[in-house]
Amino acid sequence: MEKRVIIVPCNSYQNEEIKKSTYNMFNTLGGLNNFIKPGQKVLLKVNLLMKKAPEAAVTTHPSLVEAVVNQIQAIGAKVIIADSPGGPFTKNWLKGIYRETGMEAVANKTGAQLNWNFQQQDFPFPEGKILKQITLAQYVKEVDVVISIAKLKTHGFTIYTGAVKNLFGTVPGLLKADYHLRMSDIKDFSNMLVDIAEYVKPQITIMDAVMAMEGAGPSSGDKKHVGLLAASTNPHALDLAFCHHIGLSPSQVFTLRQAIDRGLVPNDFQELDIQGMERDNLKPIPFKVPASSRSGHIPIPLPAAIDRFFYNILRPSPNFIHEKCVGCGLCARNCPAKCIEMIEQRPYADLSRCIRCFCCQELCPYHAVEIKRGRLSRLLFR
Ligand code: SF4
Ligand code: SF4
Repeated sequence: MEKRVIIVPCNSYQNEEIKKSTYNMFNTLGGLNNFIKPGQKVLLKVNLLMKKAPEAAVTTHPSLVEAVVNQIQAIGAKVIIADSPGGPFTKNWLKGIYRETGMEAVANKTGAQLNWNFQQQDFPFPEGKILKQITLAQYVKEVDVVISIAKLKTHGFTIYTGAVKNLFGTVPGLLKADYHLRMSDIKDFSNMLVDIAEYVKPQITIMDAVMAMEGAGPSSGDKKHVGLLAASTNPHALDLAFCHHIGLSPSQVFTLRQAIDRGLVPNDFQELDIQGMERDNLKPIPFKVPASSRSGHIPIPLPAAIDRFFYNILRPSPNFIHEKCVGCGLCARNCPAKCIEMIEQRPYADLSRCIRCFCCQELCPYHAVEIKRGRLSRLLFR
């Protein structure tokens, strides 16, 4: 089990600073040329959740992507930048996202290639705990090396999104809704995410934690300056380090729990081998977590049926803020449970069918969906 996590300070996305920090990070990791050979094809799996400008802190920052591309190209390797964001996995959809997130500019400046292959493929994965066959975007398997560049953010459903969750973007577009529906329980969903991470197995995972997102992430939260860049060959170790830093314990983050149970990561931050900066610099900082992190099962042993009954009452729900909504219908088109109906250009959800995946909140470009806890939940889980 790899326990090494390299963490370096990086206060801004200014080109010179990010270049220097990225270089120091790779150098401490042992040098990029230990992972990449001349002539190889390298996939940069970035986080391009939606059509947002880099300043919004929703997507991987282009200055970081550019710095990584430059260092890969210096070895003589080719770079493909790719993601399958929320919404359809099509040329038209991706075009706008590449432009707005700054990836098109990076490609024009560096000569890196943007992914235009929208094919998907089934891959057998007998070792998978929940997925014995994984359907992924074909681009994942067309390369020699995978480098994942995640963004540090909170998440309404999984509480935290970082290294492991970033790889859900290798599942093509709307198929993600199908995965949500088939694995609507957070434990199954998290096990599925760990399966995908283990199948894709990026050689290096980088965390863009210069400017993170707290609160109602992954798209409607508040920007938070953290001022760090990090890398590891073990995405679970990277997640353990950053969950610790933002004050989340492994018991709150199901992907970490599953990874610990599978022996992929230690169960304690103190067991990680932190390099690049003093371990003390990673002590927990104030960081707002999503409302959903404080709801759920009553913390006393109950028969399963009663526990399920209370859980259904206590779990938070999506709430549509019609004054902010522009009636684009994106939430309804992407709702895995198909329980959102647009009436006079405003969304209404049938909560009896809602699986609480919070994709509607994640994908709404206008922050018109909030995660709301009921009074009893607020009373029990302060
Ligand atoms: S809630 Fe958001 S995504 Fe849904 S229709 Fe309104 S603006 Fe569009
Ligand atoms: S209404 Fe929102 S939270 Fe509920 S299933 Fe649909 S997308 Fe998921």
